[in-house]
Amino acid sequence: MISPCAKIMSIMIILTMLQPSIAASQDEFAYAHKERSLQPGELIVFEVRSPGPLREVSVAAFGRTFYGFTEDDGRKWVALVGIDLDTKPGRYGIRISATDRKGIVTAVDDTLAITAKEFPTRKLAVDEKYVSPPANVLARIEKERERVNGIFAHVSPDKIWQGEFINPVPGKVISAFGKRSMYNGRLRSSHTGVDFRGGVGTPIKAPNAGVVVLAEDLYYSGKTVILDHGQGLYSYLGHMSAFSVKEGDRVEKGDLVGKVGATGRVTGPHLHWTVRLAGSRIDPVSLVDLLRIGRKG
Ligand SMILES: [Zn+2]
Repeated sequence: MISPCAKIMSIMIILTMLQPSIAASQDEFAYAHKERSLQPGELIVFEVRSPGPLREVSVAAFGRTFYGFTEDDGRKWVALVGIDLDTKPGRYGIRISATDRKGIVTAVDDTLAITAKEFPTRKLAVDEKYVSPPANVLARIEKERERVNGIFAHVSPDKIWQGEFINPVPGKVISAFGKRSMYNGRLRSSHTGVDFRGGVGTPIKAPNAGVVVLAEDLYYSGKTVILDHGQGLYSYLGHMSAFSVKEGDRVEKGDLVGKVGATGRVTGPHLHWTVRLAGSRIDPVSLVDLLRIGRKG
């Protein structure tokens, strides 16, 4: 439990840390970025401003390309960049590229200093079939892994999401992003999403607009919905008891996608939400926090 005082303190720290830092500027364009911290699993929001309209903006960082979108006639751009959970501390070269209406590309190089983050360990007792899966389900697990990875590797060119992201259920976070998980005292893996409290049957809302690219019962995450928010941004909602959508459906922010359950590898009912951004595994809470606070300024 976080005391109210500690909560206020942490909000103040977040607000202080969210002040945009002007990193560099050129005649052609200027940019700034903001983040909660430059650590594994965090989102970075880049903002690019240009005196003339641009056709495309992208940020190359951590071996990935993150595509921007314009919020007006092409003079102001935003690009979301993810620091993957497994990013080692160190200085990383990044390149911000802007293409004007004539197709002329201007690029600025910069560096980001990523610092280490310690993630605590959680111990979970689950059905043994999820720790040592029987031989007859190994092919199914591999097939599902390939299917999900194939979805995350695809970048839909159009941005579908709008504005801030909302929590899919009203419950509190009961297990944070990045924790090391020990199942039945053995297997260790990283928690690549965030768990929200919720009883069986609690409605699950789409955190933002998207297209349903998977609505299936998967071995580990049980009844699962994956939403493609566009431009390589995905939401993965797991352990549901029921679906309210099917593959191919388009949902708006807040639309019902399913109900909380306890399907797959769980200790009890809750909602698991994973976010992927150009393949990088980031804390969904950083996405909610940064885009919400970003709107206030
Ligand atoms: Zn989880």
